Amino acid sequence: MSVVVTGGAGFIGSHLVEKLLSLGYQVTVVDNFSSGHIENLSGISSEIRLIRGDLRLPEVSEEAIRDEVDTVFHFAANPEVRVGDPKEHYENNILATYNLLEAMRRRDVKRIVFASTSTVYGDAARLPTPEDYSPMKPISLYGASKLACESMISAYTYTYGFTAVALRYANVVGPRAKRGVVKDFVAKLKANPHELEILGDGTQRKSYIWIDDAVEGTITAWQKTLRGFEAYNVGSEDSITVLDVAAIVVKEMGLTNVKYKITGGVDGGRGWVGDVKYMHLDIRKLKALGWAPKFNSSEAVRKAAKAAIVELTR
Ligand code: NAD
Repeated sequence: MSVVVTGGAGFIGSHLVEKLLSLGYQVTVVDNFSSGHIENLSGISSEIRLIRGDLRLPEVSEEAIRDEVDTVFHFAANPEVRVGDPKEHYENNILATYNLLEAMRRRDVKRIVFASTSTVYGDAARLPTPEDYSPMKPISLYGASKLACESMISAYTYTYGFTAVALRYANVVGPRAKRGVVKDFVAKLKANPHELEILGDGTQRKSYIWIDDAVEGTITAWQKTLRGFEAYNVGSEDSITVLDVAAIVVKEMGLTNVKYKITGGVDGGRGWVGDVKYMHLDIRKLKALGWAPKFNSSEAVRKAAKAAIVELTR
């Protein structure tokens, strides 16, 4: 069976591609390599069909979506959670998703798995936050663009008979991640092992999920959702603070006496404008399908720190 993975040269996408190949699927990867890397596909490049192309251009989706494609895993996006150029989020997230959906509709390809995010909830008053929490009020352009994509996909599902899954990931961590707090802390401490700058007030509390757990959750949601539009939270069972993350990274790097330089952040201790300070997802809906994360937030961060230390030493 044939599937397409957009953003397949990125962090999560490349792990997903490996998993799909191991399950026997023929995989087409579409990526413009804006944040993805060809090295992420090393070892499997001969097994995939690779389209180097930008999904902002409609013809790229047209090329990728062939009649025999069963499912499109849409993981390409501008994943920058900090304030940037709104146009980047509009074009790489919303316009690219529209182009993809239109190509799918024309080819009669009707299954899509979409990489959404916990940030669609904004500052949720209820923690852990369930999928049916409302009102959903994203506080970042990134979260807003992802919620817009979810809405569009939901509408295509009901208008054109698609089957769709939106996965609202917590912070996914693991090898090949190029951004995020774990990689950031390891890089900073490599540069200066005596001091660590911490954005915000350090009490931001969030949930972290190990990459393999996230990929397994993705496959389970896809295989078990046979009609309609379903959103699933994909996170671990707990949450930890940014200061907890710092302590884990410092310990894994074998450092002592590291001085924390806490910036204080913005708007009550957030790391940046639009940073959701408290994030913990209710994962019972996906667990009811038979999936469960193997690692909690601390374990996921510890494993990711080990991987980042190796990667940044190469
Ligand atoms: P990533 O940057 O490693 O992957 C994104 C990929 O999309 C990259 O390979 C990039 O080159 C590609 N891409 C971007 N714009 C494109 C375009 N216009 N055309 C073609 N390719 C394009 O990021 P990631 O962390 O692997 O994230 C993958 C997906 O999961 C994204 O949609 C992201 O929003 C979502 N997500 C990630 C996390 C996380 O913690 N990493 C959490 C929630 C949601």
